[in-house]
Amino acid sequence: MQNVFTSILVLMFLAGCGAKRADSADGSGNYADSSAMVAEAPDAVAFDADSAYAYLGRQVEFGPRVPNTEAHAKAGDWMAAELRRHGAEVIEQKMDLEAFDGTILHARNIFGQYNPGEEDRTLLLAHYDCRPWADEDPDPDKRKQPVDGANDGASGVAVLLEIARQISAANPKKGIDILFVDAEDWGTEGDDDSWAMGTRYFVHNPVKPGYQPARVIVADMVGGAGALFPIEYFSQQSAPDLVTELWNAASASGYGSLFPRQMGGAVTDDHVEFIKQGIPAVDIIEYHPRTGFNPHWHTTKDNLENIDKNTLRAVGTTLVRYLEL
Ligand SMILES: [Zn+2]
Repeated sequence: MQNVFTSILVLMFLAGCGAKRADSADGSGNYADSSAMVAEAPDAVAFDADSAYAYLGRQVEFGPRVPNTEAHAKAGDWMAAELRRHGAEVIEQKMDLEAFDGTILHARNIFGQYNPGEEDRTLLLAHYDCRPWADEDPDPDKRKQPVDGANDGASGVAVLLEIARQISAANPKKGIDILFVDAEDWGTEGDDDSWAMGTRYFVHNPVKPGYQPARVIVADMVGGAGALFPIEYFSQQSAPDLVTELWNAASASGYGSLFPRQMGGAVTDDHVEFIKQGIPAVDIIEYHPRTGFNPHWHTTKDNLENIDKNTLRAVGTTLVRYLEL
């Protein structure tokens, strides 16, 4: 994903709302300090952060899940098998996609459904591919290495796999879909269409005839230490009610300090492809008002050492509460 502060669209937004963007709730200019995270309400919802962390570690063990590599293929097989083990009806959507640099990506979206007969459907989405180059690494010698993607890739998948496990246990009579998309992160700055290629394919090539979710929730970079999740700009534009429900679920779970009710960045991510089709979509994504994405974003330090289980717990618990599992 990329931050699109520099795009015309966002410049227009900044012209209108720029002053608000940097404000904090108390006017101090500071966002809530996530280290001060305390339970604001009884945490009655079960989300097993240890299990989610294990799912995250398993992905990292495969190696960087860069398209066209063995690690990527093996991780995809494993994720599809995990969804099936947790009772989802799984469809694997395979496609060849041409990246901005001409590389043909042998890509695969992995889609799991619960209660496929239900008409009203909530789609939970995370990308699982890793960026092929750590081009934000402070060390120029490392910028051609792939990233581990512990946060950028594995964290969202880990939270959603744990939710799949919980759905399988709770067996709610709800239409819930989980989609692991490919080829999100082979993009280049300034070219919006070079990102989210797997999701774009999914949106334009229905995995089932007539498939259309009522709402989409993306979890991206949800495992970083010290993460904050202010409201992403395109999410607020497309789905203000869903934003409110999710941020309420965070507060009710005791994680209001990690989900400040303030505008964060404007991010080109998978949710935008659904928004373009008129489907409300929200991106839960780490963002800091001054520094932007996680400091290890697209660097070789996006590894297990910089993952905090408590961040996984905050996001997972919020989603479980929202879904009323
Ligand atoms: Zn990325």
